[in-house]
Amino acid sequence: MSKYHVSIVEYKEPYESVKKAIDLIDGLKDIPNDSKIFIKPNVVYWNRHCDFPKWGMITTSRVVEDVVRILYESGFSDITIGEGIITEDKDDKETAKQAFEYLGYYDLQEKYGIKVYNTFERPFDRINLTDNLSVKMNTDMLNSDFLIDLPVLKTHAQCVVSLGLKNIKGLINIPSRKKFHSADPEQNLHYNVAQLANKIPPTLVIIDGIYTLERGPAMDGKAHRSNILVASRDILSADLVGANLLDIDPSAVPHLVQAAKDRNRTTDLSEIEIKGEKIEVLAKPHEWDYVYKENDTLPLPYAKAGIEGIKYHKYDESMCTFCSMLNGIILTAIKTAYKGEAYDNIEVLTGKEMEPTEGMNKTILLGQCQYTKNKDHPNINELIAIKGCPPSLDELKEGLKMAGIRVPSYFYKNIDKAPLLFMQKYKGKPEFEEAFFQI
Ligand code: SF4
Repeated sequence: MSKYHVSIVEYKEPYESVKKAIDLIDGLKDIPNDSKIFIKPNVVYWNRHCDFPKWGMITTSRVVEDVVRILYESGFSDITIGEGIITEDKDDKETAKQAFEYLGYYDLQEKYGIKVYNTFERPFDRINLTDNLSVKMNTDMLNSDFLIDLPVLKTHAQCVVSLGLKNIKGLINIPSRKKFHSADPEQNLHYNVAQLANKIPPTLVIIDGIYTLERGPAMDGKAHRSNILVASRDILSADLVGANLLDIDPSAVPHLVQAAKDRNRTTDLSEIEIKGEKIEVLAKPHEWDYVYKENDTLPLPYAKAGIEGIKYHKYDESMCTFCSMLNGIILTAIKTAYKGEAYDNIEVLTGKEMEPTEGMNKTILLGQCQYTKNKDHPNINELIAIKGCPPSLDELKEGLKMAGIRVPSYFYKNIDKAPLLFMQKYKGKPEFEEAFFQI
């Protein structure tokens, strides 16, 4: 007998489409009107210096507003939106403020009397997700009576998909996020992500697939206008259906396999009753992985461009988001600085697991984790340490210079505006509407 209900709705119009997705599964049934409601959108990144593609990366403000209005009209008055946006500078409060302003969250505050919190300015409680995994999680969410989890329907380069479960990671503090990317083969990123829902209050997940994303989770991926909404009171069921809509078999998503195992369930859809549209009609293939050349020693496009004399190994799950943010800068620097002459037999190591290869002339250790692990490794001839957790841009610049990866000075001067480049691919495509991120 079916036990879990999931709705799939084609997004057609403001308010009504989200309402339909909620109503099909009685999403607000038995939630008393005096409940404290916490809404968690997915604002994975923000940039104060230039425009950047938000499609498929950030929850649309369309869905956020519709949810708030539906709650308000249903008689709920204690509503909070909370999100913790990662920034390069941990003391930067302006970026979150500007994001919430642009996304219209402060307009919702005025209109519906809700609260809007940057979770990094709020308290965290230490909780045990399992006997071996303790984290600090946002107190407001933990003390709420009902969570509304609003992920985007997207893929993820490390976790394969980033949906309801993964979105909860944005509610833990920075040290806990770093700890999640553990080098422990058992208690790794996938295992940890699968535990994120262990202590949350009753939840309604609404996956926002108005825009979906290939090779996510960030703006270097490729967005599609897909017009899909998925809702469920069961987080795992929502994610299993979401993965199918991205044409990804959940049995190939390690954290969904783990979450199903922990709940004594399967990753197929046999225990789920779908209401609304059919998966087969709306599912579209989405690539999630970045392709590297054989042995994972250089991104394939770099190898094809003939770049030689450098090994830049494929990231593994132990590299956390903070070092990942530097990954793109280093790769772009390698491409920009390459003038047809092979680099000096350099190797770049990232994360907490990689080990130096014998016979390299220069070894760049990116981040404190790599430095601590490999600083005395006998395979290293010349060590270039880019320390810091995460390293600063100045440390990065210095390290690349020492390795002979010399980029023109404008490269670093304009780095804040680099995301503008990703806007190009959406030019002249009217289905990519900025208005979905404004209220
Ligand atoms: S050094 Fe990098 S990978 Fe290691 S914890 Fe710090 S930011 Fe994360």
